[in-house]
Amino acid sequence: MKFALLDPATGARPVTGLAERVGTDDVTVTLKRGEEKLALVPDEPSHHGVVALLLASLAADEHESVAGIGHRVVHGGRTFSSSVRIDEAVVDRLGELVALAPLHMPANLAGIAAAQAAFPRLPQVAVFDTAFHQTMPPVAYRYAVPTDWYTDHHVRRYGFHGTSHRFVSARAAEMLGRPLGELRMITLHLGNGCSAAAISRGAAIDTTMGLTPLEGLVMGTRSGDIDPGILGYMGHRLGLDLDAVLDVLNTRSGLLGLSGLTNDMRTVEEDESPDAQLAVDVFCYRVAKTVGAYAVALGGLDALAFTGGIGEHSPIVRKAVLDRLGVLGLHVDDAANQRLVRGAAGRVSSTEHPVALIVPTDEERLIGADALALAS
Ligand code: ADP
Repeated sequence: MKFALLDPATGARPVTGLAERVGTDDVTVTLKRGEEKLALVPDEPSHHGVVALLLASLAADEHESVAGIGHRVVHGGRTFSSSVRIDEAVVDRLGELVALAPLHMPANLAGIAAAQAAFPRLPQVAVFDTAFHQTMPPVAYRYAVPTDWYTDHHVRRYGFHGTSHRFVSARAAEMLGRPLGELRMITLHLGNGCSAAAISRGAAIDTTMGLTPLEGLVMGTRSGDIDPGILGYMGHRLGLDLDAVLDVLNTRSGLLGLSGLTNDMRTVEEDESPDAQLAVDVFCYRVAKTVGAYAVALGGLDALAFTGGIGEHSPIVRKAVLDRLGVLGLHVDDAANQRLVRGAAGRVSSTEHPVALIVPTDEERLIGADALALAS
């Protein structure tokens, strides 16, 4: 769980915090204030306990400076297509969405309750990972399954990382000095989780993640797209139930599964074994293939944006992806691609149309901006 006291106008973050292994006895909570780093111990290791502790750790003047609280909420279902001020009715509707994200939504709700208890008079705002993708047309979000799976059980593509795709698409347009409303863009969020979005003149029209974040690109530990027949086949072969097979696809697949080493792209890139090299190849091939598909969905391509830990920091991945995209008129600028590291933004294609950019993402800043906009 991440936390920041943030000024959306400048992006300044005087206080940041990180809690790991929340809900277990090994929970750790660290708070950073400038150079100072504090290890905190919560009374109870739950999400509620950790959020309460982080908020209680603010100094009096910091406490007073808070104008609103923005929560990153994983799933807004079909209900929420933009950020929303949280009231009782919103909390009730969030409760109805627990079935769609049973691991994350209870934690989100606990965080909201703890923040409301700590700041009862302040506006609280929910910013959804799914909201930006709600403009997708049915042709992109429907699966070819029985219609009652959709109507009765809400089975459709929702997409995630929406806050990042939204931030990056707006920022890319700024970098190009062109109105977002004129651009056909593909944003590639490549981190531990990975997703691509096709954005037509500012509106998301397709994305790779689906009902859950398991669909689409190869990720650190997630498989991305597979033949669903594998679930039955491997369940039978290994004597595992469906949840156990899904657990393998979520936690032991992707770069980790292919390389047999790690989910960390940097380590996989540095390893010379054929398995590790294949992991990088499969990862980049899948990304490039998706860009091709989305160029078709968009009816052409003006800009491609790389973001996330891998997209921002890996010249190897960017080059391997761009080298496959000559058919779209994209060519890597090797010197710029090597030079732009450590969070730098800029053009990495030798071509201007279409253009490929690195655009560092900043979901926290957009969450802060939405919180402030809806708080006043
Ligand atoms: P999360 O999705 O958890 O927010 P990040 O966006 O930070 O994660 O991305 C983490 C991924 O970025 C890891 O696979 C990591 O290896 C990769 N990464 C970070 N720096 C580099 C680098 N210099 N070269 C290659 N991969 C990198």
